[in-house]
Formats: sequence, C-alpha cells, structure tokens
Amino acid sequence: MTEIWKYLVPLSGLTLAACGNNVQERPNVIYVFPDQFRNQSLAFWNSEAYSGYVRWKADPTHTPNLDRFADEALVLSRATSTCPLSSPYRGMFLSGMYPERNGVTLNCMALRPESTLDPKAVCISDVFAANGYSCGYIGKLHAETPMKNDPANPGHYVSDRDPEWDAYTPPERRHGFSYWYSYGTFDVHKDPHYWDTEGVRHDPGEYSVKHETDKAIEFLRNEHGERKAGAPFFLAVAYNPPHSPYESLDDCMEEDYDLYKDMCYEELYVRPNADTTLSKAPAARYYFANVTGVDREFGRLLAELERLGLDRNTIVVFTSDHGETMCSQGTLDPKNSIYTESFNVPFLIRYPDRIRHRVDSTMLGTTDIMPTMLALAGLGDKIPETAEGRNLAPLFLENGQECEIPDAALYIRNIDGEKDGNGIVHGIFPEARGIRTDRYTMEIAVTRDWKIKRVLIFDDWNDPYQMSCIPYRENPELFADLCDVLGRKLQEADDIWYRDNIMERIGLE
Ligand code: CA
Repeated sequence: MTEIWKYLVPLSGLTLAACGNNVQERPNVIYVFPDQFRNQSLAFWNSEAYSGYVRWKADPTHTPNLDRFADEALVLSRATSTCPLSSPYRGMFLSGMYPERNGVTLNCMALRPESTLDPKAVCISDVFAANGYSCGYIGKLHAETPMKNDPANPGHYVSDRDPEWDAYTPPERRHGFSYWYSYGTFDVHKDPHYWDTEGVRHDPGEYSVKHETDKAIEFLRNEHGERKAGAPFFLAVAYNPPHSPYESLDDCMEEDYDLYKDMCYEELYVRPNADTTLSKAPAARYYFANVTGVDREFGRLLAELERLGLDRNTIVVFTSDHGETMCSQGTLDPKNSIYTESFNVPFLIRYPDRIRHRVDSTMLGTTDIMPTMLALAGLGDKIPETAEGRNLAPLFLENGQECEIPDAALYIRNIDGEKDGNGIVHGIFPEARGIRTDRYTMEIAVTRDWKIKRVLIFDDWNDPYQMSCIPYRENPELFADLCDVLGRKLQEADDIWYRDNIMERIGLE
C-alpha cells in the first residue's frame, strides 16, 4: 500500500499537466463545524460498533445522518478543542497558530479590541486560494473584533448592542475566501442575518441551519458563479446551533423538538454527573432538537454532494469548536473548561478510497487541523512555517510516512487582562493550563497574584464522568508526572506559561 501511494502522487500531477484544466487533480474540502456540539450527542457512540471506544454513554439523541457518515469516516474519539471557546478556536483552526500568535486570545467583542485575527496571519484559506482553490465561508465567523464598518451605515457598528459582539468582515480581512456569507456573532437561530461577498445584508427569517445549508448547496451547484468552475473548492460551514439559546421553540424546529418533548430528566440525562436541579436542566430538549436539526441539514448537504457526483473526490469533516457541559460539573458555563464534555469535540473525516473507516483515539488539537487538512489535499509542502500544529495526514491515510502522534493534548484558558477606565481590555491573563493524557486530565488554575487557585486531576479511565477530583497534594508522584507532561507541552507550544516560568512562579518547579 505504501509503495503504491508513493507513485500515485507524481502520476496524478502528470495527468493534470497533460490534460490542462479539464481534470481536477486535488480533492475538494468541506469543513462543517456547528457551535457547541457535544461529542456525547452523537448517537452512534451508544451502538455496538462504537461503544467500546469510549467510557461514557451518549445522549439519547437522533443523529441518523451522522451515524451513517461515521460508518464511512475516520472517527476520532478524543479530539480536543485546545482553547474551547468560539473565537480562539476559530483563530487556531484558520491559522494553525496558538492564540498568542494569531491574535485571537479571547472571545471577540468590542471591549476586547486586541483580540482579533491578525490580517497578516497565513490562514488555511489563504493557502488553498493560493493553490487554485475557490474558498467559501458560510455562517458564524466570530474571529474579529467588531469594527465601525457597517456597510449600510459606515462609521457605525453593525448593531447597537452595547458592548457590540457582531461584526461585518470587509473583503481585505477574508483570508482568501472569495465567496462570503457570514456574520460575527448573533444568537437568534430563527432570525439570522448575513453579509454576502459584496457586503449586502440578508435577513432570511428562517432557521439558520437550513438557510446556511441552502447556501452551501448553491455553492456546490455553483448556481450563481459562487466558485470557479473546474477548480477544487474549500468550503467552511459554521452553523451556530446547537449553541444557546435553548429555551423555547423560538430556538429550534418543532419537528425536532417533538422527538424529545415528552422525555423526563431521567431519560434526557443518562449521565451520573448531571445535576437536573440546575436552572439549565430544561435546556436539554431544545439542545437535542438542534443536534437533530444539524444532523438533518448535514445529511441534506451530503446527499447533494452525492447527487452532483462530487462525493468521491471531496474530503468532508464534521466537528465543533467545543463541547457543552449541559448540567454536569455543577456549572452553567457550557465551555471554556477542561472537563471532557467541554474539551472533547466530535471529529469525523471522510475521504473515500483514501481514509479507511475506523475509530482512532489520537488526541488531535486545534492547531493540528490546518496542517493536516492541507496535507490531505496534497498541499503538505505548502504548509506555512507559521503553522504550529502537527500534520497528522500520514496517520489518517496510513501511508507509512513519518508522523509524530501527540501523547497528550494541551489545554489553554485565558481571561481578560487589565481594563482601562472605559472598560477596554488590554492584554490577557493566562488563568489556566492543563493536559489530557491517555489516562488523566489535569488543569492548574492560578490567581492574579500568582498563587495556585485550583488543581483538577481526574482519572478518566476509572472516572470518565469526572466526578471525583484526585487531590494533588496527596498524590505527589502522579502530580509531578503530569506536571512534567504539561511542562513539555507548554514548551512545545512556546506558551506564555513556558516563557514566563509560571510553573516556577507558583512554586511547582
Ligand atoms: Ca462557540
């Protein structure tokens, strides 16, 4: 197999040269990432073929399209979102760089003007575009600070929300995406809005997941010249659901809600770590409804891809920017924590005839995505030097090339730095760092005067729901071992905790 692969690459290059533009050499890439989609909400994890790969039970959801897709895909059981928050995830996915280098250190909003994607960062779409791809972005971007550049009302923000979260992205900040149908942040699932390639605003007044899928299908069909005919394409589809709100039928489709409306908490919450006395408990029905809504629309996208005969030469990824704790750990915060339900994300990748269906426990981190996707598309030699993650394509393809498999996943949590008199945030405070190893999860959080605030250690083999924190002082050997791994990962990421000797500062080295 390895030998054949070696010869296939140069041969396909020759074919292209001989046939000019009539033959599309490179695969298309579709990257679908709903926001806040729990890996545990993929129903197939409860089936016989998959349940042995994870130690937790999946939610009682209906995801028939994703279940079928999984059977054709490489399914990662332990992919992580390195900094599990909307904006930092997007900055890392797009640039392959850690937040300190790509600029997106905190969730973007007007009071955090420093947290914004560096216009000079070389993004995955920049590389695809430079190599002949037509690139399209549909849905939630949330990687830029909102600016007073509303195309309909120059000199003003795009809404009067205070502080402003939503954003319009002008062409010079689109990083190679030549087709645009996007917005910054806006959480009204049935009344979404978008700015198109020309900066025209659209308010379609329908369920955002359906509308964005319609736009993605138009892109696939190339109905209005959305992409260059004959050229390969890279399409990112960033659905907002199942992100909050999840409180009423205003937030999801009734046909999806009907599947869950009569379920009691014992049926909805199959986990021992769920606290159904939390005010958030009723949310599960609406959240699961949006999980099913995303599943249906993802299925519609796949069906169109097949109908157009594009499925065999298209790499399709389904993932999310982070998870959703949904009443576990006593917290109302769905994300931005190292708990498995926040840190672990779905990651399914299908590449017919090239990537074999299987479940794999590789701990892919967010910076690994860009180099891996570029290499899978045959652009391994175009991975920019600024990319900091690993190229895991040889592992995915099983083609025998050298590939360093991560032995642990790094976790990052930054919070606001200093605030000035106007409430504007300057800099970051690197509140917590952590790791997930084959067996353990560990997070160290610090106070602003550099003392240990909290250490979380979980044995994910014996305590997969993370209900019992192992006290670090009483387990010094385990703690020291995990600190060693963390130190190595921080150095590898050239993280501020490494550069500023923060482990030493808090008395750990
Ligand atoms: Ca998010």
